[in-house]
Amino acid sequence: MKKLIVNTCRLVLALVFILSGFVKAVDPLGTQYKLQDYMEAMHLGTILPEWGVLAVAVGQAAVEFSLGVFLLFAIRRRLTSRLVLAIMLVMTPLTLWLALTNPISDCGCFGDALVLTNWQTLWKNVVLLAAAVVVAWRPLEMFRFVSRTNQWIVINYTVLFILAISLWSLYDLPQFDFRPYHIGANIKEGMAMPEGAEQPQFETTFILQKDGEQRETTLNEYTALVDAGWTFVDSRTVQLTQGYVPPIHDFSVVTVEGDDITDEVLADTSYTFLLVAPYLERADDSRFDLINELYEYSREHGYGFYCLTASLEEEQEHWRDITGAEYPFCQTDPITLKTVIRSNPGLVLLKNATVMGKWSHNRLPVIAQETAALPLEQLPMGQMPGDTVPGKILRLLLWFVLPLALLTIADRLWMWTRWLRRKKKVDKETSTEHINNITSNEKAMRKKIVAGNWKMNMNLQDGIALAKELNDTLKADKPNCGVVICTPFIHLASIAQFLDQDIIGLGAENCADKEKGAFTGEVSAEMVKSTGAQYVILGHSERREYYKETPEILKEKVILAQKNGLKVIFCIGESKDEREAGKQNEVVKAELEGSVFNLSEEDFRKIVIAYEPIWAIGTGLTATAEQAEEIHAYIRSIIAEKYGQEVADDTTILYGGSCKASNAPELFAKPDIDGGLIGGASLKAADFKGIIDAWKK
Ligand code: PEP
Repeated sequence: MKKLIVNTCRLVLALVFILSGFVKAVDPLGTQYKLQDYMEAMHLGTILPEWGVLAVAVGQAAVEFSLGVFLLFAIRRRLTSRLVLAIMLVMTPLTLWLALTNPISDCGCFGDALVLTNWQTLWKNVVLLAAAVVVAWRPLEMFRFVSRTNQWIVINYTVLFILAISLWSLYDLPQFDFRPYHIGANIKEGMAMPEGAEQPQFETTFILQKDGEQRETTLNEYTALVDAGWTFVDSRTVQLTQGYVPPIHDFSVVTVEGDDITDEVLADTSYTFLLVAPYLERADDSRFDLINELYEYSREHGYGFYCLTASLEEEQEHWRDITGAEYPFCQTDPITLKTVIRSNPGLVLLKNATVMGKWSHNRLPVIAQETAALPLEQLPMGQMPGDTVPGKILRLLLWFVLPLALLTIADRLWMWTRWLRRKKKVDKETSTEHINNITSNEKAMRKKIVAGNWKMNMNLQDGIALAKELNDTLKADKPNCGVVICTPFIHLASIAQFLDQDIIGLGAENCADKEKGAFTGEVSAEMVKSTGAQYVILGHSERREYYKETPEILKEKVILAQKNGLKVIFCIGESKDEREAGKQNEVVKAELEGSVFNLSEEDFRKIVIAYEPIWAIGTGLTATAEQAEEIHAYIRSIIAEKYGQEVADDTTILYGGSCKASNAPELFAKPDIDGGLIGGASLKAADFKGIIDAWKK
């Protein structure tokens, strides 16, 4: 259930982030304009130059899109989920402020593709924030599509893809045009009011003043009152009815003489070129020759050609001087012009009020000499491009979705064949003849260890005696594996004095999760190290259960132990109920992820894992060799997924749980079992030696 909830939240977040990042990336200028609106609403309009805001817009789109894809593929799960949560923690209060104060009519989270009101945006963000909390709470529940080894391909491909989309859209035009002036749109139809629809009603009230007295009045009385000596103080406009606002409501073409020729331009059944340059003083003039040639061509064929700009006469004059422009200039609102085309200047071709084509100044059409005599009807630029939205979506799928889908399939196949190979190897190695061959080449690569865990047994004298006996025995008959004894703290310093640590390593059974200070009764990793010990057992199920050691506490302990040069024997294992519910894999995975998978590869290589099914510890019940091998192989596979196959192959994984001299040979013969962590049977030198000798059989 938990998995289902986390993964549902993760998919919702992923899709929203991908969509919102993508629509911003296809229209970086639109995103820049929206950011400028926000900055102005916050009185921060001047802190960044225009190019700085554009860079932020490109970065914002890339971050949103990439995080969406990383969530979808469950890449760097902890980091990604925290970043998404951080974004939602910033965006949700921001949209609450927008909803309450309304400084901007729409938030622009999905560009022009999907316009939401500020309240709709707020509710959307509340839902997304809740989803982000769930995902950040349990990031490791997100299942992966691509193994860790191949994640770098998705990361690099995604970032490069989305930056390429932004840069290409800047150079050319938005690859998907969601505005009412897209190719194929009819401006007249976009301006029309449907039958019966009413325009929104507004009422303006005026505050007037006379002889220190103020009164509020409407337009009807305004003139009479002004004539009577009242003076204007302020005015307020309120929208009375919602009404219908057509998608295009602000398109107009006014000549420099002040004549509104909008209807004339839209009524023209032939072609009309509109050179759209919101601000001539900032327009790119590098392709003026092409623009002039297009004007020449339009004159020869009797097509209209107007330069629509918001710049005043002085700038128009300057443009004429530097480019030799002869075409007429008309005045249009700058916001409208920026909506018509995302290029300064950009070229729009109209016919019968329909947008036939749009070109950025970087990709202006060229009239070749041999076709200059032909009318536009006979030239490709006079036709509506065949490049349809479904075609563009298909291209997008081919360029982005298909490669990643193929990568996912290849990765899954690769994982599956590896699993098959491993399974085949396990089957082969569990045959009887192999049981005797316990020093196979592959196992020889990693260290074999038999470690004793004395727990809370033995007083100092008995402990010293046992350690001495073992020391003498193993000096006389050298073991075929590493041997470690982990004793209560009080034994460590004394035993370290005489133990031959080339033969027997010494370790503690625990250490504190704090470095030092007022923690009465605790023993720090540094103190353990100072006794001469080299090892420490962490995460033993008895400490998890009786002393409530959580994954977070254990994580701290592992870090401190390694910082002080101790080698960690890290215990994991499932309870009886968990085994019966078939959850053993899930449990060991979560235990590794919770406390040691945060380590760098270098630090992880220093860890010894001890798999100890809790139901087998001290109970006399042992996992069968097959059961133990199965889960050891699984543990190795998740280490491979996290750190790569080489690290997994080099990691020592011990088995613990009622291991004795009688069952050790069969257990240790398994390819993924590299020795044992021994409780009860480590309290007698002969018993322990019997287990150590399993490596000699
Ligand atoms: C242990 O506590 O680590 C252990 C394996 O105990 P036993 O061998 O007694 O089951």
